[in-house]
Amino acid sequence: MDLLDKERLAPLYARELARFHARIPKSMAAREVARRFMPDGVPMSWMSAFFSHPPVFVDGGEGSVFRDIDGNEFVDFNLADLSNTVGYGKNAVSRALADCAARGIQYLQPSMDAINVSAALAARTGMPFWQYTGTASAANIEAIRIARAYTRRDKVVLFTGKYHGHIDTTLAKGGSPEGNEPARPSSMGVSARATADAVNVAFNDLDHLKAALGKGDVALVLIEPALTNCSLVLPDPGFLEGAFELTSAAGALFALDETHTLQMAYGGLIGERGLKADILTLGKGFGAGVSLGAYGLTPKLARFIDQHQDSDTVPEPGIALGGTTYGNALSMAGARAMLDEVATPEAHTRIAKLGARLADGLDAIIAKYDLPWRAFRYGPRSGFCLTPSLPRTYVQALRSVHADFYNLRHTYLANRGIWDAIVSAGPQVSFAHTEQDVDCYIEVCAELIDEIATG
Ligand code: PMP
Repeated sequence: MDLLDKERLAPLYARELARFHARIPKSMAAREVARRFMPDGVPMSWMSAFFSHPPVFVDGGEGSVFRDIDGNEFVDFNLADLSNTVGYGKNAVSRALADCAARGIQYLQPSMDAINVSAALAARTGMPFWQYTGTASAANIEAIRIARAYTRRDKVVLFTGKYHGHIDTTLAKGGSPEGNEPARPSSMGVSARATADAVNVAFNDLDHLKAALGKGDVALVLIEPALTNCSLVLPDPGFLEGAFELTSAAGALFALDETHTLQMAYGGLIGERGLKADILTLGKGFGAGVSLGAYGLTPKLARFIDQHQDSDTVPEPGIALGGTTYGNALSMAGARAMLDEVATPEAHTRIAKLGARLADGLDAIIAKYDLPWRAFRYGPRSGFCLTPSLPRTYVQALRSVHADFYNLRHTYLANRGIWDAIVSAGPQVSFAHTEQDVDCYIEVCAELIDEIATG
């Protein structure tokens, strides 16, 4: 029995989409008004690109649940693509933000919270020095610039299946590790010159990385410790350690992008596994939904940027870093509360257990219908992997998801009060989730699979 057969999925999807439309009349009307002022009626184009059904306009929420303007409630397993792991309504972060906003949001001078946030990040990741940006993308932009300034080289090594933000250098596909064939733009509007300095190599493949480092012209190896934007690809034992050794031996810098994985383990993989890196970039969840990015630096790099500050008073150019609103008091107040009061070691242990409960529940459904699938599992993250083995490469990761099944699942679950993750991710448990939330996800997935199987 092929559960992913188009003939099986299409009629169910048509039925569920019609139901979804009927449930959101106010959102549909709001979108028509919004279209007069914003392309496709949304303030940021991804909001309408993520799902095959229309976006909902939100009203508010509490804990793990948000509500749209039609009054529909959704237990949220997307967590704003991991940029909101604290949940909705009143909590430690919203209180800290309200308190800070009442006193002053932004001064372009440091607040005491900046010290607390940096100390908390240093304690949990081992990276001693910290700088802040507005987003994870901006943190990666600055990591690339620092590496190029430090090494006086231009090339950046990336890993196929990665996502590091909408940055010209990283919006690059292909390229040969040996450098005979340059990477090409993966987006319209990116110049071939910008991507010519990038090369993509295969994740979990040290020989590929070695080849890319061979010419001694690499400034930075930028890597997610697990690929989290094409389902989930975990690192083979020793891969990240080996990648760091090879990179250092080639005189390049090694940056871990833990924008997503910091939400999956206390201190991210660097903290959990004691990995080594020269730069550690972060964003999303640790800002608790307020725009915030950060990067951690080793002492040698912290000294380097100190010595090369960009200033109009010296003739030689320094490194252009920073932005007017970066490190503002509001984002620091939210991150302080997030790190100290929400994302504690105990809370991480709790959500990892809930993640395992979710994965066990999905595995039980898979076993019941004898499907050649299995559940992803890493801390609070899970989801259906539609292949018998977990992926080790990007190509395998592509086979672990299925667009028609995904579109049906998101819409079916939404009609039953669950907001599933975006297609490239998996459902993840937040600090606000309960066992009942997790059981509800499993129960509705069981109904869905049963309907697909029985027709
Ligand atoms: N790095 C990683 C690993 C990401 O997954 C993302 C976003 N999905 C980014 C960086 C960019 O984050 P932002 O869009 O918040 O800048």
